[in-house]
Amino acid sequence: MLPTIVLGYLAIRTAETERLLVWEQLKESYTSLANLVSDYLDNILYSAENDFRDTLSLAPSYSKSDLEQLSRMVQNRHSVIGQTFFLNSAGKMIFPEDPQGKWSDASSANQYVIPSEKDEEIFESYMAKAERQEFKYKDPRRAIDVYKKLSSDVEHPAYKATALNGIARCYTKLGLDQEALNYYKRVIDQYNVNDGEVTIAAIAYLQSVSIYEKSGNVNAAIETLMKLYSNLSDNRWALDADEIWYFADKTRRQLLAYMDRGDDTFVPFADRFAEVDAEVLRLVKLQRFLKNYRNLASTDIKQTLDRVAEDPESAKRLLKSTTTGPHLISYLQTTARSPSIEGSPSGDEIALAGFEVNLFFLASRGFKDALSRLTTREDMMLAILNENNEVLRMPAPIPGVDIEYEIPEVLGKPINAVSFSSLPFWRVGVYLKNPQSLENLSKRKANLRILVIVGLIMAIAFGIYLIVREERREAELARLRSDFVANVSHELRTPLSSIQMLSDTLKQGKADTQDRQEQYLDTISSESVRLARLVGNVLDFSKLERSIEEYSFQPIDIGQVVTSAVEAYRFYAEQRDARIHLNIAQDLPQIEADSEAISQLLINLVDNAVKYSEDQKEITVNVFGRRSNIVIQVVDRGVGIDEEDIKKIFDKFYRGKNAADLGTGGTGLGLTLAKAIVVAHGGDIRVRSKKGAGSRFSVILPLSRKALDNGKDTGG
Ligand code: ADP
Repeated sequence: MLPTIVLGYLAIRTAETERLLVWEQLKESYTSLANLVSDYLDNILYSAENDFRDTLSLAPSYSKSDLEQLSRMVQNRHSVIGQTFFLNSAGKMIFPEDPQGKWSDASSANQYVIPSEKDEEIFESYMAKAERQEFKYKDPRRAIDVYKKLSSDVEHPAYKATALNGIARCYTKLGLDQEALNYYKRVIDQYNVNDGEVTIAAIAYLQSVSIYEKSGNVNAAIETLMKLYSNLSDNRWALDADEIWYFADKTRRQLLAYMDRGDDTFVPFADRFAEVDAEVLRLVKLQRFLKNYRNLASTDIKQTLDRVAEDPESAKRLLKSTTTGPHLISYLQTTARSPSIEGSPSGDEIALAGFEVNLFFLASRGFKDALSRLTTREDMMLAILNENNEVLRMPAPIPGVDIEYEIPEVLGKPINAVSFSSLPFWRVGVYLKNPQSLENLSKRKANLRILVIVGLIMAIAFGIYLIVREERREAELARLRSDFVANVSHELRTPLSSIQMLSDTLKQGKADTQDRQEQYLDTISSESVRLARLVGNVLDFSKLERSIEEYSFQPIDIGQVVTSAVEAYRFYAEQRDARIHLNIAQDLPQIEADSEAISQLLINLVDNAVKYSEDQKEITVNVFGRRSNIVIQVVDRGVGIDEEDIKKIFDKFYRGKNAADLGTGGTGLGLTLAKAIVVAHGGDIRVRSKKGAGSRFSVILPLSRKALDNGKDTGG
């Protein structure tokens, strides 16, 4: 029991270990996939950096057009390369040029003049009044009066433009579209100014467009949008990237909607739009880079330039985190090259070159490519995780970067996350599509394990049971054997000593009467018979044990064999006050048998019947035919056999409880031999017995041994 519990406990422990093992194995295989993905993305960046460096060293010169061409080349080869930039040793950016500077010099309209204090006062009080009329009292007419007064009273163009826009807006509210358009046009024509926060002219454009749209003047609407869009593209208002994009996005959406209408309205504008669109996107990207560079990178990079390069030509990275995510710049210091070497007089000296890493590309197309190169498991998925371990959501990309970033739908927590070596802010998260399935799989495996172990335990338990049973049997047999030795010696000594004593008495002439002499001689003779029988039984048994007993089968008259055996025994029986009745059926057929063995068997049975009878020593021997068998029955009215003994009395050395109770001598071999003989004849021996009432042993012998042989043949 205890070992079973211990084994059971071990089984459960093993099962749990197994479960963990399955989990670990799966996790490992998933993780190796995630590693491949991260390697792939790392590699994209590494090889871009290498190519950038190599291309740079091969450039014939560093003239501005060379740098532009070089940039376009590497960008075409590596989508991960965003805006490139080149600095001279003083840290001045040689490429790209800052468009802000260019245009702010070119147009005086862009010079933002700080308004006078007086102007400011007038503007604020009039505006408050006008807006109250317009928005609170919903009285556009009164509002127009105030806006008009404002426009004539202030000096600053931004204030004038704001007032004119207000007038136009109020005319729209009154339904006077033409009036409104006129005022917007005035703003656009005369006051296209950046007021420091927002471009008033751009608003005037968009407002006019909505008036055209309302009146169904599609052509005028598109034309106006196109004008606004190209104004944004040349950055005449000197806006920064976000300001440009604020208007460009609105304008672009409306233009694209017209383009998508599928009629001919947009056709005349299509070419111009494509041109301007590309310029706007380029400008936005450039401005965005410059803004990031100025705000995040310039100080660090200039510091790098102040130091002597430890390992020029090898890429370094500068990582800054912004509210919209990480900003990564890869750069390298170059060994300064004199422009004269390659014969390019306009070539500038370049001390540092770098590019902005297009993280958006890596996280979208790069990631997709990596996945498509791997056979990922059906039941798992990978996602890029940000610094907070959430699935990465890229900030809205600049239009024109038409790579879709699909945010994977993931369930639960990642089971593991693998770091990139080049992109420390991201990790590849490993998710299970169905976390339950893994549990189930490992449970199934564990259950199988438990089943096997339980089976093993049962097998072991059964084995132990068999061994114990065998051991018990052996012990029992050993006990029986030693009993047997004691019994046999006793059985031998008793008749021997009485034979010795009686023959001594006779020899000494102490038996005076003839009767007494005869009585002594009878006893001596019957004791010798008993002794001979005993020795015969033991010898036969030992032959049986060594399987060398041989029988000689002859056709015999069974009635005659039984009769002569019983008669030979009768004298011995009568000496013990036992009577034997013999009933032999008439005309019994002959059977093939060993007559000596049959006699021995019969005598063993009859002798038992005498031995195990007390007062009523009445023994009946019946011989009769039944179907194809001869039946020999030995019936007594003796003590009977204990029920629990009945099964065992044919076992070797076994002696029943009644033998001990009666104190009868014996070896426990009589029935063993009887059974062996019957079996050798192809027959059977059965016993019925009732405690205190007697026993009946029935020997069933087949008529012919042929039946037995056949039986053996077919049975074997
Ligand atoms: P034993 O030498 O003890 O008689 P046997 O093999 O002849 O050995 O018999 C085995 C046991 O069967 C006996 O010990 C006895 O308990 C029981 N037995 C055999 N024949 C009879 C019978 N006719 N009546 C009661 N018990 C019997």
